[in-house]
Amino acid sequence: MLARLAPTPSGFLHAGNLDNFRRTQAVARDASALLALRIDDADATRYRREYVDHVFEVLDGLGIAWDVGPRSTEEFESAWSQRHRTAEYRHRVGDLRDSPVETYACTCSRSDLAGVPTGGCPGGCRHHGGPLVPGVSALRVHVPVGTVVAVGGHEVRLDEELGDFVVWRRDDLPAYQWVSILEDERLGTTHIVRGQDLIASSAAQVFLARALGITSVVDATYVHHPLILDGQGRKLSKSTLGREGVTS
Ligand SMILES: [Zn+2]
Repeated sequence: MLARLAPTPSGFLHAGNLDNFRRTQAVARDASALLALRIDDADATRYRREYVDHVFEVLDGLGIAWDVGPRSTEEFESAWSQRHRTAEYRHRVGDLRDSPVETYACTCSRSDLAGVPTGGCPGGCRHHGGPLVPGVSALRVHVPVGTVVAVGGHEVRLDEELGDFVVWRRDDLPAYQWVSILEDERLGTTHIVRGQDLIASSAAQVFLARALGITSVVDATYVHHPLILDGQGRKLSKSTLGREGVTS
């Protein structure tokens, strides 16, 4: 069994990330599971080495030890970075064509998408059958109306919560949902611990994993915990300015 810490190096960590690390460690300990460090840099377009340095500093400060994963920023960049596997993620997109899910290339611009509450495609691209072209289109998975996914004790109406979600981005990088499924399959993750803001993401991943026959991701134990909020009741977000968010 295995649980993973999965920070994204697109900013310095904040108190919410630290809380997630502690909760993940507790879940792993209670389940006698191994703990892995998985740094999700596949689509981190704001990547900076300092953000990875910070992950190691924070884990050291919290006294959290892990069994699988890089031990330093140098080791991460040379041997563990997901950027080394972009071609593999791209190759696996081919699996979707043989699966029951329907995919389509979406050319809608960011401004077209702004008015769509679920982030789905507003332009009817699904019916146009256009090609996937880097810099021009993103690959979306169609979520039929009425799709319900049970995950972590929640029943998620995926079409309403997320809509047709992206698996391959317009900038020719794999989307978070796609990388997360393939990396959890690779690691053999059995326990996935996330904030409650990611319940719909978990549902999307179970939806896709089921269609692809990735049973380990379908059968994993999902724990969604409350978020730490700021003084205005908003969820904390990554700071790209400094490390002041992690003094607690
Ligand atoms: Zn579209």
